[in-house]
Amino acid sequence: MECGLLIVLSGPSGAGKGTICKELCERNKQYRLSISVTTRKPRKGEVDGKNYFFKDLEQFQKMVEENQLLEWAKVYDNYYGTPREYVEKSLKEGYDVILEIDIQGALKVKEKFPEGVFIFILPPSMEELKKRIINRGTETEEEIMKRFKSAYDELNYISKYNYVVVNDDVEEAIKKIESIIIAEKCRVDRN
Ligand code: 5GP
Repeated sequence: MECGLLIVLSGPSGAGKGTICKELCERNKQYRLSISVTTRKPRKGEVDGKNYFFKDLEQFQKMVEENQLLEWAKVYDNYYGTPREYVEKSLKEGYDVILEIDIQGALKVKEKFPEGVFIFILPPSMEELKKRIINRGTETEEEIMKRFKSAYDELNYISKYNYVVVNDDVEEAIKKIESIIIAEKCRVDRN
């Protein structure tokens, strides 16, 4: 069986990555979304094992020590990581695996999986980004400012990615990502 494709999506908080990933996986059973581990407290409505695997710092450190994480990073004062086994197993089984992770994590994954497809999701404008983060209503004012400020720094890393998709309209963004995946699978220089 042919190995699946590893697809990494990053972008500023509020760019719409979460919605895009969810929709992609609901529409196409070929795609599997990796559920990350985090030390962040669950937000209202978030479910353990669905949105994240919520762990305390000690549990997270144990996973790091036991090499259970493919990558991990500290993002906005909390730790986040990708469970290794699910990703490797799914790829071997021929599924395309989507990781929705930050830039630090994406760079680490790129070292291990240079053949992965790295896609950066952009909001249509910084003004719109701020509006989206505020309207989401899940962060405190301090957290909103932190996320908004780091969005500017994150733009410096776009060149590390293979593709940029502007999420002006979710349907259009999904269409573009699906097209990228199809094109990647047709590449003759992909092993
Ligand atoms: P949030 O707290 O808003 O759910 O996520 C905050 C940031 O952490 C987002 O940029 C998200 O992409 C990133 N993130 C989520 N899971 C992981 C992960 O497993 N690894 C890394 N490196 N970043 C992650």
